[in-house]
Amino acid sequence: MDELIDSFGRKIDYLRISITDRCNMRCIYCMPPEGILHSPYGRILSFEEICRIVNVAAGLGISKMRITGGEPLIRKDLNLFIGNLKRIRGLNEIALTTNGAYLKEHAFSLKEAGLDRVNISLDSLVPEKFLEITRGGSLENALEGMEAALSAGLEPIKINVVLLKGLNDSEIISFAGLAKSRPVHIRFIEYMPTHLGEYSYEELFFSSLEVRAILDSLGELVPIENNCRVSAAKSFRIKGFCGTIGFISPISDNFCSSCNKLRLTSDGCLRSCLHSSKSVDLKAAMKNGASDNDLAVLIRDAVNLKPRSHDLRAKPAGVFSEDFSMCQIGG
Ligand code: SAM
Ligand code: SF4
Repeated sequence: MDELIDSFGRKIDYLRISITDRCNMRCIYCMPPEGILHSPYGRILSFEEICRIVNVAAGLGISKMRITGGEPLIRKDLNLFIGNLKRIRGLNEIALTTNGAYLKEHAFSLKEAGLDRVNISLDSLVPEKFLEITRGGSLENALEGMEAALSAGLEPIKINVVLLKGLNDSEIISFAGLAKSRPVHIRFIEYMPTHLGEYSYEELFFSSLEVRAILDSLGELVPIENNCRVSAAKSFRIKGFCGTIGFISPISDNFCSSCNKLRLTSDGCLRSCLHSSKSVDLKAAMKNGASDNDLAVLIRDAVNLKPRSHDLRAKPAGVFSEDFSMCQIGG
């Protein structure tokens, strides 16, 4: 089997899959208040179609996958789906990204089904602010979800915090406090304005460099050697903390040179980069009777479409011209 290597020599072994474009929240950085125009149900990949794609991709060297959305926990029969993924040879890790609202009731059964770990989005530790940012979410539910995930052993648990100027930039020390008291890994993520988002770069962007300066007051940030080959996050340990602190900085410090990802959208397009609309339509190919070999060729085509780098820095102030919905692509 030839591994997936892109035109710039990067090995591609990680697939993120958005299993739905629907969500129970309307985070201000992800969606407009009225939500997005959803794909009709018939356009959304079935679990059988996803398993088929993952099976072919695993045969090409994809060893790690992440289930995302929209909100993945709103999709029925998720446990069954994870159980079927678990049986795919070559797939070593199945992770999930969730807003945590329904995690409390599902954490143990997800673990039992074969899920390895979760990332939870948590953008404020102040209930009213959490409600404002998510437009309706409950901080209590998300924190209970986090505790349930810890009890179920869905570890390491990463907490994703999108940095939002004027909204949660006053909570940096509180978030670090969470990593001090609980064994969770806080990851501060720089805001990326999107086509469907309402807020510009100027309005919301807060750089992870500024966060690092704020965290300096807590002690030395000791870099953690990454035992996985590539990671979008730069992570640090602080003495006396149970968890760690990391930074995902697509704008101030992009990690494109080590990118190892493909993204499958909820409607079945395999996207070469979060910031490029170049993709191949696997759903249409399957509908037209594509064999597994045909799918393998299309997956290689998507890898060949990967750009060297995104150009967010070149147009950080603008709204993207391309159609760009985080919940269809999965973030
Ligand atoms: N609903 C799940 C959740 O919120 O975790 C999964 C889907 S969400 C689209 C996946 C990730 O994308 C989340 O961690 C979210 O914070 C991140 N995200 C969404 N819009 C973003 C934006 N404009 N800039 C940076 N991160 C974003
Ligand atoms: Fe939903 Fe996640 Fe987007 Fe928030 S970030 S609106 S929880 S898909």
